[in-house]
Amino acid sequence: MLIDSHCHPDRLDLSAYDGSLDALLTEARSAGLGALLAVGIDLESSREMIRLAARHADLHASVGVHPLQERPTALPDEDLLLELGASTGVVAIGETGIDRHYDSDNLDWQRESFRIHARVARRLGKPLVVHSRDARAETLEVLREAVDPEVGGVLHCFTENWDMARAAIELGFYISFSGIVTFRNAGELRDVAARVPLDRLLVETDAPWLAPVPFRGKTNRPQYVAEVARCVAALHGLGQAEFDERIAANFSSLFGVELAVAQA
Ligand SMILES: [Zn+2]
Repeated sequence: MLIDSHCHPDRLDLSAYDGSLDALLTEARSAGLGALLAVGIDLESSREMIRLAARHADLHASVGVHPLQERPTALPDEDLLLELGASTGVVAIGETGIDRHYDSDNLDWQRESFRIHARVARRLGKPLVVHSRDARAETLEVLREAVDPEVGGVLHCFTENWDMARAAIELGFYISFSGIVTFRNAGELRDVAARVPLDRLLVETDAPWLAPVPFRGKTNRPQYVAEVARCVAALHGLGQAEFDERIAANFSSLFGVELAVAQA
């Protein structure tokens, strides 16, 4: 069973599916996808993820406001986030975090928003979905002060070094790799992926962005997580079925969800 630990269903390109997300999900299931984490990028998108989770047993929601959300003005309303986070089908809080690669002008907003999400996650006892880019120290600072290591979370679309991965693992985090790990020039990242302990690994698409090789440059789909899984399984010297089973167990354990299909 394949698991996509991070995608954005409300941003997927549905033109090949007559505009039908259901049709895309049906195809993804036929390709072996057993579950996915549907990640909200603002409050409206988060509400949509909750609606989708109510309709699809294999789709689990995460609610939050993305650090690169366009021109944020007010900080996310903590009570509202708490209310959304407590909804049925919501298994995580985020994505949140700090990105200094694409935007270092609103660092104060990003850091404060990140703290709000971390507090909500802590109060609800749900894991945190974190986006971190060129912001190792800033990210770890918030994780250290605000996250419950018993609950932890995931550093999604990981592109940092081993020191960052190890520090996050010590704070109860999983490390999730996207299609970037399959890119030709990503040798250093593959070295990091090879060192992450099997019981702390996840794989994702971050669809519709970052399609893995051989789909690089095209629109991404959740079922393409198979290419990411193939790459990381090889780095760990594991057979595909065994690797996929380990990833499914990690997803189930981090997000507290039961996976619908029986293990082979
Ligand atoms: Zn994302």
